[in-house]
Order: sequence, then C-alpha cells, then structure tokens
Amino acid sequence: MERVRFAPSPTGPLHIGGVRTALFNYLYTKSRKGVFVVRVEDTDQNRYVPGAEEYILKTMDWLGLEVDEGPGTESPWGPYRQSERKDIYQNYIQKLIEKGKAYYAFDSKEALELERGKAEAKKEAFKYGQHNRHRMKNSLSLSTSEVTPLLKNEDYVIRLKNDALGTIKVQDELRGNVHVEAIEIDDKILMKADGMPTYHFANVVDDHLMEITCVIRGEEWLPSLPIHQLIYEGFGWEAPKFIHLPLILKPEGKGKLSKRDGSKGGFPVFPFHWEGSVGFRERGFIKEGLVNYLALLGWNSGTDRELFSLKELVDAFGIEGLQKGGARFDYKKALWINAQHIKGASPSKLIPLLPPHLKEINSVEEKIELIKDRVETLLGFNELLGLFEENPTQYDKKAVRKLESKSCKNLLTEFRLHIESGQQISKSEYMGKIKDAAIKTGQGMQALRIALVGQLAGPDLFAFMDLLPKSVILERLDNFIKYLNQSL
Ligand code: GLU
Repeated sequence: MERVRFAPSPTGPLHIGGVRTALFNYLYTKSRKGVFVVRVEDTDQNRYVPGAEEYILKTMDWLGLEVDEGPGTESPWGPYRQSERKDIYQNYIQKLIEKGKAYYAFDSKEALELERGKAEAKKEAFKYGQHNRHRMKNSLSLSTSEVTPLLKNEDYVIRLKNDALGTIKVQDELRGNVHVEAIEIDDKILMKADGMPTYHFANVVDDHLMEITCVIRGEEWLPSLPIHQLIYEGFGWEAPKFIHLPLILKPEGKGKLSKRDGSKGGFPVFPFHWEGSVGFRERGFIKEGLVNYLALLGWNSGTDRELFSLKELVDAFGIEGLQKGGARFDYKKALWINAQHIKGASPSKLIPLLPPHLKEINSVEEKIELIKDRVETLLGFNELLGLFEENPTQYDKKAVRKLESKSCKNLLTEFRLHIESGQQISKSEYMGKIKDAAIKTGQGMQALRIALVGQLAGPDLFAFMDLLPKSVILERLDNFIKYLNQSL
C-alpha cells in the first residue's frame, strides 16, 4: 500500500507551486490506490503564520483533493501536526545520539561567528563538520564530565554527525542517481536550542514513522536529500523513494515563478484570496480548470490530450509523464483550460458558483447554457448575462459607421412591426426581411446585433432573443432606430 504525504509549512498562503505538489502527491497515490496524508510542518515558530494551515486545508477541500489522513484524523500514525509530536522527536534524537550519529554542540554565537569570519577570509563557506568539529565545543571534542554540566547549564543544539567519506549517492526516481561530495555536507542541526526539531530531522522521523513510501516535493528540496539520507542511514532505516518535481518557471521561461511575477503579469499565484491578493477562485477559475492546468505544469499524458477531470488525471497519471526540466507558467493557457471546463460543465453546476445577483435572474439556466462556451472564467458571466439584463447604453461606433444606416433603419423598423404584430421571431423570418430590404445579409445581421447588444460579438442572436421578453426586444430596437435617426 502506497502512502504519500503532502507536507506544507504554514508560513503563509499556499502558492500554486505548493498546490501543484499537493496535486501530484494526490495523483500519484490515488493512481496506486494508496493513502494521501497531509502533515503540517509547523516546527518553526518564528515563521508560523496564523490562518495558513486553515488556508491549506481549505485549498485541498476546494480542489477535491480528499485527504485520507491529516490534522484531526485519529490514527496510529498521527498526530499530523509536527508541533504536536515534540515528544516523538525527543525520543528519536536520543536514539540517534546513542547510536553515535548525533552529538551535542554548545558553541556560542560568537564562537560560530568567529569561525564563519575565518572561512570567509579564505573565501570559503563556513561548514561545521568533519574537518573542524574536533576544535569546536561539542560532545565529541569534550569529555563526558565536561559535557554533563553543560547540558544542565547551557543552551545547546544537537547536530548530525556526518562521517561519510568520498561521494554520497542519492536516488531520485525522476533524475536517477545524484552524486554529492560527503565533505560538502555539514553537521546539520537536528534539534534547536528551543528543543524543537529542525525541518530535516522532523521530516525524516515523520516520513519513517508514518510509513511514507514515496516523498514527492519541489526540486528546491533536492539539495536536502543527501542530509536526509544520512539521517536514514544513521537510524538504520530504509528510506522511501523520492521524486523532486520540476520548478514552475516565470512566464518568460527563466527563473522560478514568484509572487511578484503575479503582480507584474496581472495573474494570480494563490488558489484563493489571501489578505490583499486575489486568487484563481476570485478570478473566476473553477476547480476543474485550475486542477487540470496545474497537472500540466510538469506532466503530460504522453498523448496530445490536454483536458482532464481530476478522476481522469488519476487514471492517466504515471511518473513516466513527469518532466525534469522546469515548467513555464502560462496564464493564457490556464484561461483556455478553464474555458474548456466551463464549456463542458452543466448550468446546474455553474450556477451555484455565481454571485447571488446572477443566480437569481430569470431563466438563468437557459441563459448560461447559451453563453457558457463564450467565457474564459466565471467573471465572464457577469458581462454576458448583463447583455440580457440591461439594454445597451452605447453602441460600437466603428461598427455603426460601417452600416448603411438608412436601409438598416428601414429593415429594423420592418422587423419591429413584425414582432409587435405578434408574428414569429425566427432567423428565417428575419432573413426574409433582409432580402426584401435588398441589403447584404452581413449588414442586416450586424444591424440587429448592434441594436440588441450594442456590439458585434455575442451569443447566437436568435437563441438570445428567445430568452428576452418581447417588450425588451422592442425597446432595444426602438432605441437603436432612434440612434440611427439621429446620425442620419
Ligand atoms: N515543509 C516543507 C515545505 O514546506 C516540505 C518539504 C518536503 O516535502 O519534504 O515545503
């Protein structure tokens, strides 16, 4: 049974990179009938942002990424918030110390600064590790009798003892073997002076205890993999598989997508609103559209197919479809995908997603049916439903100029009489009038369209008129005829 986890830190709103990580974890595990775990990595009290955890869970909920185990779940693997697992880390760090794979370090800030300065003077990066730990203040360099009082009276951290020599080989399912020089890895802090574990330690202990079979996370964590591997080896545990997902790149293609790119390019980077920023949801994305677009950021089905529901993604997903290289963010494509999902959705599914004033308009289902293939986002319904609800307040001047005003006016006047006398309103009837007026079909159609909606674009005219009260059609024709009169 596969068990995978999405392990966000509640340090702010989840951005789309995080949402995509959650999605790929979900797809991976559901395509293998496994268990999807959400673990909240909240050990860094300084970066904790109230509301962030709720935001993350709400996002899962909105997108339909059903969580099998997570905060609130009672199970032998829980609890699922790291802040509630402190005793576990205390217990396991002792085991690592007993195995000689971790040690206490008492170095003061000043002592560390001094060492850092020395390294910098030699144009080297400071590393606390194999080559210098013997001259630092720690339980490896000091005797037991020196250490015992220090443990009582001084602040200390617990470090990983990296004894590896030569090259460390780690494996990523996507990238194959990655080699790192052991000497490059310092003795990472595993427990901080405040008694809280660091990310590396808590992450490994939890992945082991929660029996995670595959870790799927962003590429930015690849450099941490050798450290994690050393911790697994220190405990003598078997490590899970690892997949590091490609970065999401800026629209221009270079560099990682950031929050600033969103404000610069006018597109959202959060699933829904957070403080002042609007998200995809407020921009009128439906969950199916966002999920589908995010799935394509770094994955393809091996065919030309681009449109998938969540369930279809589960069926189609496989790691062979994941790419190694970064995936360029393309908002236009996201809009297009969203449009396809809106087009494919039934009005009864779309209506609950609309603001109250739109939900309540007459014959809203029929109206939505008629226009849903013309919008990219739910916001488009505002404008297009508006075409039914409000008479045009202005006319596209450029389009009007191209009309032969006089003949069009006569044509519309004729048609108006036709409607007023209670005769059928249909395309063929109108075409007859166009013919009688001896004007071009294009002209005749455009004149009617401008009269009814003020512009040349819009839904099928006759289907549109079917949904308008007769009085409104007459009013709109009158208004436009008056307007043409004035311009003659
Ligand atoms: N807590 C880390 C993050 O916020 C998770 C990294 C991982 O999945 O190991 O990205």
